[in-house]
Amino acid sequence: MAENIHPIFDRLLQRADRERLLHQRSKVLWLTGLSGSGKSTIAQHLERHLYNQGFFAQVLDGDNIRSGINNNLGFSEEDRRENIRRISEIAKLYINSGIISINSFISPTIAIRQMARSIIGEADFIEIYVHAPLEVCEARDVKGLYQKARRGEIKGFTGIDAPYEAPENPALEIRTDEMDVNMAVEQIFQFIKPLITLEE
Ligand code: ADP
Repeated sequence: MAENIHPIFDRLLQRADRERLLHQRSKVLWLTGLSGSGKSTIAQHLERHLYNQGFFAQVLDGDNIRSGINNNLGFSEEDRRENIRRISEIAKLYINSGIISINSFISPTIAIRQMARSIIGEADFIEIYVHAPLEVCEARDVKGLYQKARRGEIKGFTGIDAPYEAPENPALEIRTDEMDVNMAVEQIFQFIKPLITLEE
């Protein structure tokens, strides 16, 4: 019967098929750090750099997540957890699509990042600690949020009246008070290049 002639067309496409199409290995680059540490800036520059180098990547950050799929979530502990859970599930779908996902989220506790890691899978989760001292982040105060938090207008702000637990063993740590954005991106790119390159 004809149905047995092309068995390859019968099976569902796999992640590996899509990775071959895109000439890359999909990974999640998980950028964690204080507000103002430089996650979003690095994520956007890295996305562009990867694009220029022929890699297919997509940034997930507060702008495209909290304004859309997670617009019903706040900053309570439970909501932060649900925020990260959904983000991790989305990143997992990306992984299966062969896409490199650049996730830029404070994700303040070891436990919350552990949840992300276990949803995404150890092998695909690359934790990058975007690190600048609190004083530096506060002095930058990109969105004026630290000032508001200090005045008590924002409650539970990470680094002020909510904890930030630094990663104990990140794959990579980037000190953004010691280098500019281009150097930060170059350092990350050199580290991830062998991990996202598909040997064909
Ligand atoms: P986050 O996403 O972590 O809240 P942002 O990327 O929004 O942080 O803001 C970081 C700020 O720090 C930006 O104004 C950026 O220009 C500045 N900055 C200075 N040095 C660096 C660096 N090496 N990497 C990233 N951002 C930097």
